[in-house]
Amino acid sequence: MAKSKKLKVGIYGITGCMGCQLNVLYQSDLFGILDAIDLRSFPVGKEKNEHKGKLDIIFLEGVVVSKEDLRMVKELRKRATVLVAIGACATDGCVPAIRNFLDDKDTQKVVYHDQTKHLQVVDPSPVDKHVKVDYYVRGCPMDKLEFLQLMKAILSGNDFKVPLKSMCHNCNLQGNLCLLERGRECLGPITFGNCSVMCPDFDHPCIGCRGPFPDANFEAYFTMMERKGFSRKHMMQRINKYAGIKFRELIEKQNENEVDHEHEGHCCFDMFCHSGSDRHKKQPLIKLHKK
Ligand code: SF4
Ligand code: SF4
Ligand code: SF4
Repeated sequence: MAKSKKLKVGIYGITGCMGCQLNVLYQSDLFGILDAIDLRSFPVGKEKNEHKGKLDIIFLEGVVVSKEDLRMVKELRKRATVLVAIGACATDGCVPAIRNFLDDKDTQKVVYHDQTKHLQVVDPSPVDKHVKVDYYVRGCPMDKLEFLQLMKAILSGNDFKVPLKSMCHNCNLQGNLCLLERGRECLGPITFGNCSVMCPDFDHPCIGCRGPFPDANFEAYFTMMERKGFSRKHMMQRINKYAGIKFRELIEKQNENEVDHEHEGHCCFDMFCHSGSDRHKKQPLIKLHKK
């Protein structure tokens, strides 16, 4: 492919730890990717980054926590034909967004004492709360394999779709012994699948870094966890860690619609489903614990 025909790409970051941008550099096929694109801007990975014009694809890491982040997100959206949110900060808010569930003033005082006047904060929020996002590469850090799959799809002119499955689907394919059955607090049934890191492979419960599984049956999940001795408040605290905003949005939507998963045939984790139990009926609404 002649250089002029290559897709012009930029990789940028707002507030984040740079782990996702570093994961671009850690791609096993990094040189293959670099050969196929015209990388105009990547401040973490190269020295000259003066390109200010329109780009075919912009990959963006980080969460909007300040007015400067917000300004940058809007500017990058204008410059991008395709905008890709990479990593849990950009897709779901991640750890910085825990601030949404705390008292802002108390938190600022702990960190900055009386020196808070200079702060230009906004409520921590994922990128798609402010601008349209075309594609998502989930995970903290972003899943390297998924990034590669997306890159290949775009370069070959194909659409990119992640299978709509929960983490339990992937975990079952690995033949893991379920951690829930061993009394551990795994978020797998309500977490977006297609993860190649697979914490349960290493005996760690999933903590939801890929955000919520859109078809999850939250009421069934929380009821099951209560039966195992984990309160809803406790489980909400776990959920808040990586994707509290997006989880809460989906839970609230299900509460509004009073979704009856069993009768819609969308139960997200059939292997745990005691069908016919009252939890699938319309009455139990999940109460969120905001603070
Ligand atoms: S998603 Fe995780 S690795 Fe990526 S920038 Fe945020 S905190 Fe860092
Ligand atoms: S609950 Fe966790 S350990 Fe059990 S199948 Fe799902 S992802 Fe695997
Ligand atoms: S298993 Fe869960 S917490 Fe672990 S990397 Fe995958 S989605 Fe994230």
